[in-house]
Amino acid sequence: MAEKIRAVKGMPDLSNPEIQSFQEIEQIARRFFESAGFSEIRTPILEDIALFKRSIGDATDIVEKEMYTLLDRNEKTLAMRPEGTASVVRAYIERYASREPEQRLYYLGPMFRYERPQKGRFRQFHQFGAEIFGVDDPYIDAELLNLATDFLDYLNIGNYRLEINSLGSKASRQEYVKILLKYLSEHQSQLCEKCLDRMFKNTLRVLDCKVSTCQEILKAAPSLLDHIDKESQKDFEQVQNLLNKLQVSFQINPRLVRGLDYYERTAFEFVSDDLGAQSAFAGGGRYNGLIKELGGPDLSAIGFAFGMERLASLYKQSKEKFLKRNLVFIPLGDASSEYCMQLMCSLRKQKLKNQFGEPIQLRAVTEYGDRSLKSKMKRANRFEADFVLILGDDELKSGTILFKEMSSGDQSEVLLSDISALLIDKLQKI
Ligand code: AMP
Repeated sequence: MAEKIRAVKGMPDLSNPEIQSFQEIEQIARRFFESAGFSEIRTPILEDIALFKRSIGDATDIVEKEMYTLLDRNEKTLAMRPEGTASVVRAYIERYASREPEQRLYYLGPMFRYERPQKGRFRQFHQFGAEIFGVDDPYIDAELLNLATDFLDYLNIGNYRLEINSLGSKASRQEYVKILLKYLSEHQSQLCEKCLDRMFKNTLRVLDCKVSTCQEILKAAPSLLDHIDKESQKDFEQVQNLLNKLQVSFQINPRLVRGLDYYERTAFEFVSDDLGAQSAFAGGGRYNGLIKELGGPDLSAIGFAFGMERLASLYKQSKEKFLKRNLVFIPLGDASSEYCMQLMCSLRKQKLKNQFGEPIQLRAVTEYGDRSLKSKMKRANRFEADFVLILGDDELKSGTILFKEMSSGDQSEVLLSDISALLIDKLQKI
């Protein structure tokens, strides 16, 4: 037999069941962002290498050691895109900047980085990203972040944090870099090897280091937020106020710097503890100088990119959770036992579905017998009940039942005539 040719390391095939999550997320992303005024753009995978060098920055990890590059037959150096923003900005300058500078564009597609493959980190991965061009206003920052969190809500992804920071203006950041460098130089002996290297090349990235000894040193380091310019400070305050008004929860992370050079002012990341070591599943920020830097007019923009593999993993986990529902009836008497049994059996016959039309797996049991309420509740807890319904014979006579939501501990008395509809609604909702 001929020797098998294997897939390239870090470049997995996408097939079922993962592809299904991708398709669903893509469909929802398109619907969501198109209804907020975005339209799709598809840029080529290959670009002139100069595009990434100039935008992402020569000293960044991506440009320094992670890009896939090739010489075409004409001896021109091309790079496979390591991210989407630079290409979209290039296309924006060519197509829209002078004619219709206010644009909302989204993209979906594969990106390429020569990183060390591990769980959640690949050499070919996919991003879904959105960019808003031509308006420099904190309202846009807040709207975009609100859209991103609504999108996550819709996907039923709940266990995450939105971390935000302001990187200030380029000039104020350069000043801060000098101050930070001075501080780091005084503590060189305690820094890890990577930080010693980064310190002079890409000083801000030292703030990102996860090594515990470096973290200790960084605790007392001068904070970027104390050194950004006044205007950026005001802008950041307003972004926070607006996020509060929109009820978007966030945490300020003064050490969030992002790995790319082009950000200014608002920068953010979405992080989830459900992902293991590669916990960031989206990132973005404002990049006011980039359009000009790439030869376009002096216009501003903001955007983000979700990593599809990590988003799909969170989506799958949440779906597994929300497709299963455990329900326990606790009758406290003969008449109520009969009532609970009937209600449980009629619920089991229902074809319950979630918002995507997928069947909900209902596990419903009734705790018959004359054991105490306490012992029945204990079993309900062991059963990992989402909802518990408690019915005594007296309540049955007065036509009410106690409905308990176990995740919040909330409980309420519900009319027996309403309980079936309420349960069906609750069980189908995510
Ligand atoms: P970045 O462009 O580095 O800010 O990345 C944005 C998002 O893309 C991250 O939050 C990840 O979810 C995803 N991402 C970046 N690099 C990789 C990779 N090598 N493998 C998988 N996902 C990635």
